Amino acid sequence: MKKRNIKYIVIHCTASLSTAAVSTIKNGWKARGWKNPGYHRLIDAQGKAHILSSYANVVNGAKGYNQTGIHIAYIGGVVRSMDYRKLVPADTRTLAQRQTLELFVRELHQLYPNAKIVGHRDLSPDLNKDGVISPNEWTKMCPCFDVKSEYAGVMK
Ligand SMILES: [Zn+2]
Repeated sequence: MKKRNIKYIVIHCTASLSTAAVSTIKNGWKARGWKNPGYHRLIDAQGKAHILSSYANVVNGAKGYNQTGIHIAYIGGVVRSMDYRKLVPADTRTLAQRQTLELFVRELHQLYPNAKIVGHRDLSPDLNKDGVISPNEWTKMCPCFDVKSEYAGVMK
């Protein structure tokens, strides 16, 4: 098998409630007709990592960043609004999810020291070309936290 050139480690949320089941998330991809999962690893609220695909495989994490990316997600990223009518973006990571996510980031940084560790939203187009992906340029909120500052210590 041809070795992939990993340039990005992309952190995601599933944009579901943190109680969503792995099977429900997988079924959502099937319903969209996806042959591949959306992420390589999926971390549930208890901090357990579910292996959905080998790093050698391409997944459907972010358009334009799949051939060169490894995609890791935590289950969550939305809460119910006060009136219960809609789901709104929020950083819903549990302590266990934070710990497992950081373990993956550390491990992947060692495996792929030249890869950039980014949040999905950081891959939004830089509309004003200032070199910074500002909140007003985010095409989505995923993963609902600032990956760069969160893992600054890991990247040192
Ligand atoms: Zn995402």
